[in-house]
Amino acid sequence: MGLFDSIKKGIADLLGKAKDEAVETAIDAARDKANDAVETAIDAARDKANDAIDNAKDAVREKAEERKQEKERAAEAERKAHEEARVCSQCGRHAAPEEKFCPECGGKIVEKFRVCSKCGKRAEDAEKFCTECGGEIVEKVEEIKN
Ligand SMILES: [Zn+2]
Ligand SMILES: [Zn+2]
Repeated sequence: MGLFDSIKKGIADLLGKAKDEAVETAIDAARDKANDAVETAIDAARDKANDAIDNAKDAVREKAEERKQEKERAAEAERKAHEEARVCSQCGRHAAPEEKFCPECGGKIVEKFRVCSKCGKRAEDAEKFCTECGGEIVEKVEEIKN
């Protein structure tokens, strides 16, 4: 091999090496970029999923709280209705919650409700017919439990 050929070959080798390195660097950079993009996408998806889960949990908690309050309101309304329904079975005097017998006439205290004769729905004082089914409103007397 002549000197010229040797130099030519040396330059070709150097060029080839430089090209390989450039390609490798470019591949590495592209790989890093792709990995970063995948990680960012995964993070974003995870954040979104976590947010959705948190929102769903909040919604469930709120619903449960609402249901609890509704139940408490219903229980309170029921308790009040029973209290208001307490009357003396003999003279009709409205009784206090703790009274079991009438202080006026000694009659037994009962609960008197106005209910629909058909569907049993409780009626307001002014109602003569059921607002639910049109049935006639009747008076129902109940013994006081407890
Ligand atoms: Zn009485
Ligand atoms: Zn009815």
